[in-house]
Amino acid sequence: MALRGGRVPSRTSHKHRRGNPFLGLANPALVEEISPPLRALARHPVPPEVAYQLVHDELLLDGSARLNLATFVTTWMEPQANQLMAESVDKNMIDKDEYPQTAAIENRCVAILADLWHAPDSEVATGCSTTGSSEACMLAGMALKRRWATRTGHDPARTPNLVMGANVQVCWEKFCRYWDVEARLVPVEGDRLHLDAAQAVAHCDENTIGVVAILGSTFDGSYEPVADIAAALDELASSGGPDIPIHVDGASGAMIAPFLDPELIWDFRLPRVASINTSGHKYGLVYPGVGWAIWRDADALPQELVFNVNYLGGDMPTFALNFSRPGSEVIAQYYTFFRLGFDGYKAVQQASRDVATSLAQRIEQLGPYRLITRGDELPVFAFTTTDGVTDWDVFAVSRGLREHGWQVPAYTFPADRTDLAVLRIVCRHGFSSDLADLFMRDLTQVTNTLIADVDKAGRSGPGSFHH
Ligand SMILES: *Cc1c(COP(=O)(O)O)cnc(C)c1O
Repeated sequence: MALRGGRVPSRTSHKHRRGNPFLGLANPALVEEISPPLRALARHPVPPEVAYQLVHDELLLDGSARLNLATFVTTWMEPQANQLMAESVDKNMIDKDEYPQTAAIENRCVAILADLWHAPDSEVATGCSTTGSSEACMLAGMALKRRWATRTGHDPARTPNLVMGANVQVCWEKFCRYWDVEARLVPVEGDRLHLDAAQAVAHCDENTIGVVAILGSTFDGSYEPVADIAAALDELASSGGPDIPIHVDGASGAMIAPFLDPELIWDFRLPRVASINTSGHKYGLVYPGVGWAIWRDADALPQELVFNVNYLGGDMPTFALNFSRPGSEVIAQYYTFFRLGFDGYKAVQQASRDVATSLAQRIEQLGPYRLITRGDELPVFAFTTTDGVTDWDVFAVSRGLREHGWQVPAYTFPADRTDLAVLRIVCRHGFSSDLADLFMRDLTQVTNTLIADVDKAGRSGPGSFHH
């Protein structure tokens, strides 16, 4: 939601805007010009096909999802999923009484994820669907805060803090601001571009409600060392220090690691992991917006945060910030679980990782780029220019790629590596190796043009124009 929309033309100008004549002056049923409302409701209704076509046409101006290598969010689903979503978009998720089957399907999804993430007893694990990882992280953070308050006797003189790498996604800073928790952001430094165990423990104290470990970092796709962080916190607790739970932000990685890195221990197999979130709409392979939050057992989710809603005359426990929301995303998640099974997910994620690792390698071989990550954790990697490149930078590359239609963001790392500027590529289902070939062709051309421009400027001698 944009709190303040972009600038719109003044109220008078829209009268003179040209609409599509097929839907206006050239249509004998209408014979008037129709243009979409910009600032206020129009006086009169218009036929549905006109409204459809004009909104549809306007949306063509949005970028092409297939060429968007910036987003983590699903941009393609099967037609059967589209159909199920259209059939269930009128079901209100909160109305457990009227839609008991949708509620049952949500519970099955929770059980499936609890099992996938090795909850000790997936019968006891509790969880819920959300609108995305952001809401799931808010809920998990609230649970951590409440447990800490109970542990420390609800002492108003204490200020809670949450320990996490400076590379966290913005939702955690949002959580801290909205819920009056100090965001204890551990800076990145040198080649350590995410949180490590030593730094995590060094930042903890009696008022730490939890440590957030990210699987994996949105900055470069790397997994944070959850098991090492857990071991270090175990040691802290057993040496008389505070006993601090971990929340794993698995927005992307919680739907990658179970399939591609089964030997990596990052989930409820670590007793210190209290809760995990994921975005169903990222590598869960569902359209936006669905996310999930799962707690290892009832103890990890304070009961006073749970509200009961009516369900078939009985009580159904719920934990959410939203109330009404469409059932279609949860149905689509269940469809995808059903449709793909373990092996199907594995095949889809492996294909994305294969594209990511081979693309990263080819970019490295171009010469002027240095890989920060290699796409072998999340199918996501970041790269920068080598030290020898001084006359152009990653921002110029991003702009050049944009001219070919590719959206590849360039940005700097957080404190204390704001000097490091990178490009990041997110490989998702739909970004095939054929598209990757086209991308390489364009990246090579953009790079060569940047180098040639510098050479030209160099040849014209001192005082020449550099841009
Ligand atoms: C995307 C992301 C989020 C926010 O997820 P939404 O589903 O977009 O709300 C939180 N944490 C991490 C690590 C992410 O990658």
